[in-house]
Amino acid sequence: MVSIEEALRIIEDQKIDLESELKPLEEALGYALATNTAAPFDVPEFDNSAMDGYALCGLYQEYQLVGEVAAGDSNDISLKDGEAVRIFTGARVPKEATAVMMQEKTSVKENTLFLDEMPKAGQNIRKKGGQLIQGREVFEQGHILNPPSLALMGSLGMEKLEVVSKPTINIISTGNELVKPGQPKTEGQIYESNSYAISGALQQFGFQHHKKTQIKDDFEATKAGIKTALDSCDVLIISGGISVGDYDFVKQSLEENGVNELFYKVFQKPGKPLYFGRKENQFVFALPGNPASSLTCFYVYVLQLLQRLSGYENVGLTTYQFPIKHAYKNTFGRPSFLKAAVIDGQVEVLDGQGSSMIQSMAKGNALAFVDDGEALNEGDLVRCKLIS
Ligand code: AMP
Ligand code: MG
Repeated sequence: MVSIEEALRIIEDQKIDLESELKPLEEALGYALATNTAAPFDVPEFDNSAMDGYALCGLYQEYQLVGEVAAGDSNDISLKDGEAVRIFTGARVPKEATAVMMQEKTSVKENTLFLDEMPKAGQNIRKKGGQLIQGREVFEQGHILNPPSLALMGSLGMEKLEVVSKPTINIISTGNELVKPGQPKTEGQIYESNSYAISGALQQFGFQHHKKTQIKDDFEATKAGIKTALDSCDVLIISGGISVGDYDFVKQSLEENGVNELFYKVFQKPGKPLYFGRKENQFVFALPGNPASSLTCFYVYVLQLLQRLSGYENVGLTTYQFPIKHAYKNTFGRPSFLKAAVIDGQVEVLDGQGSSMIQSMAKGNALAFVDDGEALNEGDLVRCKLIS
């Protein structure tokens, strides 16, 4: 049995070889850049107008109107002192222009433009290179592509990006009692639900699973199922069958498949029978079958590894501190990740902390960490990971 800290350190200490691939911009969200990126040209590439209005040559309150430039126009009107052109947002500003005046502060009579106020030099002109200079670094390797990053890369004309590949993930659910939702079931059976939580949590963080299988509690079937799953994944996530029951065959089946145990059992609640192993460059998490245990272990442990395998530098859910709404004492005898709700900056530990209870987790939005035996008074700060 290892402590939570030891388990996290073992995951963190894994040596990992990252791979990269070219991704179209449309599919690059959430990937880490595999290389440093420099700007291929200045952004903006040309001086342009920040407003719909008038580009002015010289600083006066009255101008002669001599034409128009719209966004996308490439014609280069040249302005003389005292002249102005109608201009629109994003349109190229003539090189002689001193300023742009927004149209709301102007009036036009025949071909004469009148300004309500004196213009200021440079006003409303977005300067060439004002955002990025050609050749300078835009992003460092490892930058995670969020929506504005995609916009920036698109604005630099990049159609495909060299990104760190994400791991291929397979999911196995074990249990004789499990029936797929939508299928008839007999007494003693339950509907399989963990795989939906795991695939949902994967999607929540930008991962997909490749294959999902269900295996009976049978040693040969478990061994064969794990072998097949390991043929096509970087990370295998198994639920159930890893505890000490007579029908728990996962641990032995992993050994027989050449997976080396890195830790088994973590001193925590929920999720004590958590297993982590490695076979060359493949990783296996065997999560306890109880629904709240398996999902909690995903958020606390599995996510970190998946993100590291994806080239992320900061991995896992951020821990925040919130004051607790009611006094609480952890009497579970183990450090606990409690199902909790963070509302209006306060954390409430929810009813229904049993490892099988998923409803409280579904209604809450956080895991609150309370140490073994720790007694909190109302208002004391609690470490929380927000899960939704
Ligand atoms: P196990 O870890 O296999 O001993 O399972 C512990 C508990 O979790 C048992 O009550 C199982 O019925 C339940 N369980 C295991 N796997 C699943 C699953 N995929 N979906 C829902 N419940 C499960
Ligand atoms: Mg089982």
